[in-house]
Amino acid sequence: MLQDRDRIFTNLYGLQDIGLTGARARGDWDGTKAIMEKGQDWIINEMKESGLRGRGGAGFSTGMKWSFMPKQEGERPHYLVVNADEGEPGTCKDREIMRHDPHKLVEGCLLASFAIRAHTCYIYIRGEFYREAEALQSAIDEAYAAGLIGKNACGSGWDFDLYVHRGMGAYVCGEETALINSLEGKKGQPRLKPPFPAGVGLYGCPTTVNNVESIAVAPTILRRGASWFAGLGRPKNSGTKLFCISGHVNTPCNVEEEMGIPLKELLEKHCGGVRGGWDNLLAVIPGGSSVPMMPKSVCDTVLMDFDSLREVGSGLGTAAVIVMDKSTDVIQAINRLAKFYTHESCGQCTPCREGTGWMARVLDRIAHGKAAVEEIDMLFEVSKQIEGHTICALGDAAAWPIQGLIRHFRPLIEARILGQSAQAAE
Ligand code: NAD
Ligand code: SF4
Repeated sequence: MLQDRDRIFTNLYGLQDIGLTGARARGDWDGTKAIMEKGQDWIINEMKESGLRGRGGAGFSTGMKWSFMPKQEGERPHYLVVNADEGEPGTCKDREIMRHDPHKLVEGCLLASFAIRAHTCYIYIRGEFYREAEALQSAIDEAYAAGLIGKNACGSGWDFDLYVHRGMGAYVCGEETALINSLEGKKGQPRLKPPFPAGVGLYGCPTTVNNVESIAVAPTILRRGASWFAGLGRPKNSGTKLFCISGHVNTPCNVEEEMGIPLKELLEKHCGGVRGGWDNLLAVIPGGSSVPMMPKSVCDTVLMDFDSLREVGSGLGTAAVIVMDKSTDVIQAINRLAKFYTHESCGQCTPCREGTGWMARVLDRIAHGKAAVEEIDMLFEVSKQIEGHTICALGDAAAWPIQGLIRHFRPLIEARILGQSAQAAE
């Protein structure tokens, strides 16, 4: 359980001043120049030692990602791009950071850019985040006026410019290479990787793309030290994490907790538990819509971190915890997600373009009891043909929820098709 002294986001709910004065009172911008004076190698090493894994969903080591950038400033400029295109269903954590603690992100942008030798950073923010873009721009303006960014940022000798770029509402633009294309003014479609952005990114230049939360926690890690962050959570799953908890709990919320907290404790401590009590729980999607759901039997004991959730066949993803009690029609819930992925597919590769629509149509017939039992296996097989065979992770994201449904709720699906009651499936 996280102690208050270890909390990074102390203004998550916006109860205090979000401006520079309030941010400074919370410890932001304290000793930033001294951190920069320790040098790029020290910063990158400290981030590696902290064990921070990317908070956008994939969980790739942030320090490692920074270390992929060229060690010298060559002819091609370096860029930092912050992915603020938070679109994963159930996820609303980056929104809270930008609304209520924007200086954490602005300071993080400076330190991360300095570490990867970038003089320019773009924050690509989801178009619908109008107020968040305003709060962020206001924090950026304050930072420029105070000499914290701009020419000779914080008196460090490093010139640094920061821009907010607003997206236009396409989910796939949250994929890092689609985001880069969109930023360049092109159609927001993912590029094949490799090359990774560290080699060929924005305008063909070395680029690091990081999630808002990953960047916003960096200044605190660098101030308090890698060992402090690494001492929280579990090995290889360190630190604190913002969880967005929605659905059938008594009080849905966003909360910062220690990585590895048991799911049951997370829900009971912060959300007043599952509506109707723990025994009324049916299933949980623990990491945003792109990861498979878990039935109650798994939820009873599972820990909330990357490796624990992977071991039980799911994932931490964005840590958006979607709770479903026994009143939920899980087939319809996954059917709704299938329609979402069909709508958001960019249509560039065949398995995703054709497969997402096909899966959604079959699932829709299943949900309405109009399919044959044999189609369950066919649906599973097709989802396996999509998984791993597409340019970006949207194909996997469409396949996994359906696989999770079939894996854990097959008797329920069969009962729906055979016109039996849900109780008959238990
Ligand atoms: P990924 O595993 O392909 O990449 C993760 C990061 O590591 C990328 O930045 C990539 O460039 C870098 N990387 C990986 N291998 C590398 C290498 N060998 N060399 C250099 N860099 C390397 O995953 P992804 O497609 O970026 O993200 C998928 C995740 O995004 C999903 O798991 C999902 O949970 C999440 N997601 C989040 C949102 C959101 O709103 N936050 C929306 C949709 C999906
Ligand atoms: Fe586009 Fe889907 Fe292919 Fe991703 S997997 S590139 S969204 S068609």
